Order: sequence, then C-alpha cells, then structure tokens
Amino acid sequence: MIELRTPTELDGLRVAGRFVADVLDELLRTVDVGVNLLDLDRVAAQMIADRGAVSCYVDYHPSFGNSPFGRNLCTSVNDAALHGLPHDRVLADGDLVSLDFAASVDGWVADSAVTVQVGTPREEDQRLIDTVERALAAGIAQARPGNKLGDVSSAIGAVERRAGYDVNLQFGGHGVGRTMHGEPHVPNDGRPGRGLKLRPGLVVAIEPWLMQGTDELVQDADGWTLRSVDGSRAAHVEHTVAVTETGPEVLTLRADART
Ligand code: MG
Repeated sequence: MIELRTPTELDGLRVAGRFVADVLDELLRTVDVGVNLLDLDRVAAQMIADRGAVSCYVDYHPSFGNSPFGRNLCTSVNDAALHGLPHDRVLADGDLVSLDFAASVDGWVADSAVTVQVGTPREEDQRLIDTVERALAAGIAQARPGNKLGDVSSAIGAVERRAGYDVNLQFGGHGVGRTMHGEPHVPNDGRPGRGLKLRPGLVVAIEPWLMQGTDELVQDADGWTLRSVDGSRAAHVEHTVAVTETGPEVLTLRADART
C-alpha cells in the first residue's frame, strides 16, 4: 500500500532525517586510514543510544538472511556494492567505502547513504561517485507532484547509462515511513511518464548505485554483503525525499548541504 504522509507526519520524518544525516556526518568525520569497520558501527550505535533512537538494521532479518543483521549500518568496501556487513577490517589507503544508515526516531524512519574515498583518491572512483551523485540529484529533481515514478527512475538511469555504466535493476529505492522498506519500489531505470503518479506526502528513499565494470552481483559468504561479480568497485548514494506541493524536499541533507 502506498501511504501519503500528513504535514504532522512529515515533521516526524524530518526529525528522523536530520538524525540520520547527523550520524552520517559523524561517520564521515571518523572514516580514515586505520579505522576499523567495527569502529564505525560503534559510532552509529552510540549515537542511536544517545538519541533514544532505534536501529533499523540490528534486528533486520529478511527471508534471505541466515540470521539478523546484528550491526547498525552497512559498510560496503571496494567491490562490495550493497548490504556490506561491518566486520573486523581496517580501512586502508585507497579504499572506497559506502556507508548506508537508517534509524527510527519516535517511530519515523529515514534512510541515507554516502560513498567516500579513504586516503589517496583515485580518478576512476571519483567518476563513479560523481555519477551516482548526479543520478541521485536528477532523480530527486523529478520527485514532484504531477510527475510519475518512471520520471524519477528514468532520470537516474539516463545519467548512469550516458556515463557508460550498466544499471542493475535488482535493488533500488523504496517507500519509507514507519518502517525502512515500503511501497513503492523505485527502480534505478525506467520509462518517463510511466508508473505511480507522485502526490504530496509520498516519501521515498532514492538510491542509485553502480559498479565500475558490471551490473551483476554475487553474495558474500557472510550471507549479506553483495559484491560485483568481476571484482570492480562500487559506489552508492541515497537520500530520503518527500514529495511536497512545492517540489522535492530532501529529508536527509547533511550539514554541508544545509543552508
Ligand atoms: Mg539505505
């Protein structure tokens, strides 16, 4: 079921969005050569506890999972594209890490992700990051009343395909509200003018992601982490966005993007 949020409910989602953005800001300050992925998990866990928020990930146990996720965020490093399970691994110079975080504050959820290079940047990694960020911006720009969901999807896919990447349609964005994953599914490519009509109060997570050399994933032995089948690197960005009367409102803007 597609749920549309009232102005009061949107206020709750804004609070959750700000918290998720603040956690990602703190994680971005923490990421560095020599930092363990479990340190990042501890940062998120502490901020959740301090805020009285609830993790969306710790008890997350979908049908494909062997056991609950057990950590507070996804850390996907290098050829890991999505759902990276934090483990005992120290970040090294030249790593590419995506941080995907969602939490519930007073019963409302927000979900956001960012990809960052660790230490010495690489040109091809920056191009991957720039492309998913441009795709995210293009998708968000279409999230306005009167448009269709296909306008969002096709805007994302067009940026990615024009940059020469193949687009995977297995995993994409999703409705966000009381829980992390709701309807509608937001594919990362599609046809303009098709699909759900966007109305004020619709809240979705838009999350383009790409792999350098393939669109095929393979699941890691940990039962969660999804890697590129060819070992090429991946980038993933995500914002929770509300469709409002006046256009898209990004609920998870980090500090450097807020005015
Ligand atoms: Mg997410």
